[in-house]
Order: sequence, then structure tokens, then C-alpha cells
Amino acid sequence: QALSTQLNDMAEKVKKLEEQTKKFERKLADQQRKSMHDSLTKLSNRAAFDEYFTQSMVRFHHQPFDLALAVIDIDDFKNINDSYGHTAGDKTLQVIASTIQKQVSDDAFVARYGGEEFVLIYTKQKQKELIKQLNSINKNIARLPFKFKNNKVSITLSIGVTHITTEDNIHTAFERADEAMYKAKSQGKDQVIYS
Ligand code: GH3
Ligand code: MG
Ligand code: MG
Repeated sequence: QALSTQLNDMAEKVKKLEEQTKKFERKLADQQRKSMHDSLTKLSNRAAFDEYFTQSMVRFHHQPFDLALAVIDIDDFKNINDSYGHTAGDKTLQVIASTIQKQVSDDAFVARYGGEEFVLIYTKQKQKELIKQLNSINKNIARLPFKFKNNKVSITLSIGVTHITTEDNIHTAFERADEAMYKAKSQGKDQVIYS
């Protein structure tokens, strides 16, 4: 009788421990997911981008393929915050993020790199197709019916894009895409520059 009670107690304890382990595992998975995502836009974050881009580069140097990187910066975004408030700015970022994500979900890895900048990694598009798709993203963003304080606002993007070459490392590749984006800014914004 005593032994049977003891066994029951032990079984109960094991069950509790198992439940606790499951709970910790779920918590850990949740934390891991959070550490790779941006809480405002729900896109992958910069840490996730760094990891994905590094892995893509390793694959590329092992066996080259059409690996491309696009850097996107929203034009005159500070105006939105200054004219309509930070909350309007946040909402705008969310809508832009989900619009980009929806449009490229099958073709590219998308992340919020920081502030109002996004990065895209393509793995099978040639130059012509890339430019076409990025121009189409810009057009679709510009068409979004943003309305703040009864003002219709059109938002545009400056985009720099480049293919990775065998001479590249992650830094040179990123810098070329970033410079192309700045060239788009200096040439009047609202455009895509391939470099
Ligand atoms: P440019 O066309 O040259 O890119 O001009 P810009 O106004 O977009 O560039 P600037 O770098 O001057 O401003 C970026 C602004 O983005 C400033 C910052 O307050 C805003 N911003 C960055 N992250 C967030 C965010 O999470 N929420 C909101 N509401 N604003 C943000
Ligand atoms: Mg910026
Ligand atoms: Mg900007």
C-alpha cells in the first residue's frame, strides 16, 4: 500500500516536471521568434537579416547564383512624424512593411533593417526582373491611400539594388546597395538605382 502511494506520488511529480519542461520549451521558442522579429512591423529584424545574408553569402561563394540585395529607404519620412505625429508614422511603417512583404513573399527575404529602412534579399532574379519588381513595389506604395488629418499623402521610396559578385563580402555588397540607394536620393528620390 505504502509503495503504491509512493509510486503514485512519483508519477505525479514526473508529470509536473514534464509539463514544466514543455512550458519552458514554448517560452524559449517564443523568445527566439521575438529575438528575430521587429515588434512594430512583424517583419524579420536586422539580426535575422544578418544571419540570412551571411548564410546566403556562404552558399554563393560555394556555388554562385543570382544573389541580390536591395536597400529601401522611405522618402521624407520625417515629414510624416513632424506633420501628423509619431503614431501616424508608426502606422505608416506597418502598412508599408506589410505591403512590401505581401508583394515579394514568394521571391525575397524581407527585413526591417532599422528606422524607416528595409532590406530585401533575392536569390533567383536577374537585373531586369529585379528592377521591374522594385519599381512595381514603389508604385504600389505610392498608390496607397494614406490620409492624415484630412490630407491625402503619397509616400515614395528610394531603392538601391545590386547583385553579389565573387569579389564581394557582406560589407562590400551592402555598401554598394546602400550607395545606390543614396544615389536614388540625390537624383530626386522616388526611384530604383541598380549598381
Ligand atoms: P530622406 O528622404 O532623405 O530619407 O528623408 P527622411 O525624412 O526619410 O530621413 P531622415 O533620416 O531625416 O528621417 C527618418 C525619420 O524616420 C526620422 C525618425 O524619427 C523616423 N523613424 C525612424 N524609426 C521610426 C519609427 O519606428 N516610428 C516612427 N514613427 N518614426 C520613425
Ligand atoms: Mg533612413
Ligand atoms: Mg528616409
